[in-house]
Amino acid sequence: MSIMVPSTTPALITPGRQALDSALHQLDQAAGHLGLDDGLRTMLATPRRSLTVSVPVRREDGRLDVVQGYRVQHNVSRGPAKGGLRFHPSTDIHEVTALAMWMTWKCALVGIPYGGAKGGVAVDPSELTIRELERLTRRYVNEILPLIGPEKDIPAPDVGTDEQTMAWVMDTYSVNAGYSVPGVVTGKPMTLGGSLGRASATSRGVQIAALAALGGSPDGVTVAVQGFGKVGALAAQYLSDAGCKVVAVSDVTGAVHASGGLDIARLRAWVAEAGGVHGYRHADALARDDLLELDVDLLVPAALEGAITEANAPRIRARLIVEGANGPTTPQADEILAAAGTVVVPDILANAGGVIVSYLEWVQNMQAYSWSSSEVELKLRDLMQGAYSEVKALAAERGLTLRQAAHVIGVGRVADAHRMRGLYP
Ligand code: GLU
Repeated sequence: MSIMVPSTTPALITPGRQALDSALHQLDQAAGHLGLDDGLRTMLATPRRSLTVSVPVRREDGRLDVVQGYRVQHNVSRGPAKGGLRFHPSTDIHEVTALAMWMTWKCALVGIPYGGAKGGVAVDPSELTIRELERLTRRYVNEILPLIGPEKDIPAPDVGTDEQTMAWVMDTYSVNAGYSVPGVVTGKPMTLGGSLGRASATSRGVQIAALAALGGSPDGVTVAVQGFGKVGALAAQYLSDAGCKVVAVSDVTGAVHASGGLDIARLRAWVAEAGGVHGYRHADALARDDLLELDVDLLVPAALEGAITEANAPRIRARLIVEGANGPTTPQADEILAAAGTVVVPDILANAGGVIVSYLEWVQNMQAYSWSSSEVELKLRDLMQGAYSEVKALAAERGLTLRQAAHVIGVGRVADAHRMRGLYP
């Protein structure tokens, strides 16, 4: 048996640190527009609670590994903390903090009564067996148990986790409570109180945001999608269903391109079997990095943070970017894109469909009732379109980018909530 002692000091500039720098820069800009005082700025720049845990995992061969886990509650002024749980090898406390902060603004922007949180475990789930994953998830949940609960902090799926992970979260919490608590987590399987439309919600929201931003007819609009996972694959499907021509997609295994348009249903069937887009025969192979620079109308980054940087932003030819991922564009890239007249529908608006339907799932759980898929979709559409119109109107009124306007609204609502509640003691 070998015990691995993980380092607690991450390298100086990790991708996570870059994500946090981006989030802090966006907050600073919004705080400037809102005229927030220094004290409030500092409060909003720092998470309310931040927990680092070491999670011991028994491997199949008997070895004991220890991985780092995190749960950060950035803000709880508007309601319980809410946000996903990420399993990814390079996740760190900085990334989780940035993602938690974005959740706060996202929930405020779309008007759902939550604060923001995020969880992460620094592990590659594809390297674990299903039983190792279950043990890891349950032990992580046990370590963060004092923080979570249906009225305190409600996890959900994110990169590297799915409805099975959420079922283990629900069960571990419930066994400790002594009774079933479905409202402790969202993105659950239908049999455990999941909501119709939750699994597809982020992608549906991306489609709603993209169609709103396109304005006119989507027919023939060319699209490239970076990331063909939970968000990107269905976003590509829904955009294609709406009449767009999805000409390229990429994932960790490679990228494929077809100038006449990809048959997304066929590609999804291939990926379900082969494990990735690589080797798909009905399209040309493409270098992964080239996807972002294709001559398309619409680009959907739906992978990880920091995809669009000052290095590739000058070569981006899409006139519209709709962010399915959290934090795919750095502030430096934002400036380059804005100067070039490229419209960016920001993450906290474009990918809010996931947390919106998480909220609807939680409301159904709290009243032990369930809604039809059309009721869920109608509510999702209303909230997405309402938020899009508000962002668009504020951007036009104040001469802001859509990202700046979205942050001014989100940060402004959290600041208002804090002011109304006052400081205790
Ligand atoms: N992980 C998703 C996000 O980044 C969903 C979070 C949730 O449903 O709470 O928005």
